[in-house]
Amino acid sequence: MEKIEFHNRNEVEKIYTDFIYAKGLHGNTKKSIDDLKELRKEYHCGQFQYHFVTLLIRNFKRVLVMSPKEMEIWIKRIDPCFGKCFYEVNNKGEYVKQTPFGEKLVQSLGYERLQNKILKKFFHETNNFKTCYYCNSQYTLTFVKEELESVKFQIDHIFPKKKYPYFSISLYNLIPSCANCNLNKGDGDFWTKDYFHPYLDSVGDYFKFTLGKKSDGTILLKGASIDHSDLQIDITGTGNIKVKNHNELFDITGIYGNFTEIASEIIELGREYPESKRKELLKHYKDSKDRPLFQDQESIDRVFLRVYPNKKDINKRPLSKFIQDISRFSDFYN
Ligand SMILES: [Zn+2]
Repeated sequence: MEKIEFHNRNEVEKIYTDFIYAKGLHGNTKKSIDDLKELRKEYHCGQFQYHFVTLLIRNFKRVLVMSPKEMEIWIKRIDPCFGKCFYEVNNKGEYVKQTPFGEKLVQSLGYERLQNKILKKFFHETNNFKTCYYCNSQYTLTFVKEELESVKFQIDHIFPKKKYPYFSISLYNLIPSCANCNLNKGDGDFWTKDYFHPYLDSVGDYFKFTLGKKSDGTILLKGASIDHSDLQIDITGTGNIKVKNHNELFDITGIYGNFTEIASEIIELGREYPESKRKELLKHYKDSKDRPLFQDQESIDRVFLRVYPNKKDINKRPLSKFIQDISRFSDFYN
């Protein structure tokens, strides 16, 4: 839910370009360019397809690391006139299927062959985010098993490759995602005016999880027992069109409605370890040599409240945003 920021953008773009240019990986880019040239031969120089493939070959490196905003500019220029070369629409103008030319463009750029060999490896090596950006309810993990990388995420195309095949291997059009969100997102348009973009926006800045109307205020009072079935998870901020769209597309309230038990546990923990007690624990928790067991208040809070207090840590663990917000809503953690 936090925007994806590479520590050193230039360096990451270089690593990505190197990956695609396949240093030590059998010249994949040469193959992409060769395949694009082969594809061009199927058309004559009066045709749009011929010119478009030429444009792509000339701008190959730029397209690889093109910014989301520049992608939108390209799409807005290309799509109104030439979108029909890439995909078919019905009489309402809705997407029906990719054209043979669109399919060939994805093939020539090599998305399928790069996906497992290079793209997942790239995200594995540069990845400091371990959860799905869209929902923060699932891990997007990679690990090594029997000397082979095992990858437990899908790669989502932010601008769908079925409509915009020319961005099928562009870095800022790709994002590790859980299978559910990838499926929910489908092939619809994902304009930055309508949706939060993984490389531009922190979704979590625009809404908070709360306990909705059904949750009686008294459950937050000390001593009242909590029945988690009395809790209702809701979100604020739905007056913002992007929050509303994000919630509807990825069914955020539907997913988190299942986590009422966790919410009740968070409230219980907050009662058990109020701020005054946590401060005491920091002072008094010492090892046998009288050294503090916890470095700072943040470490204490992480252990006793299960909270990652900083928003920068949200992408580290599933449900971090949820736990932060419910803790703060319950007014025992600020
Ligand atoms: Zn997800």
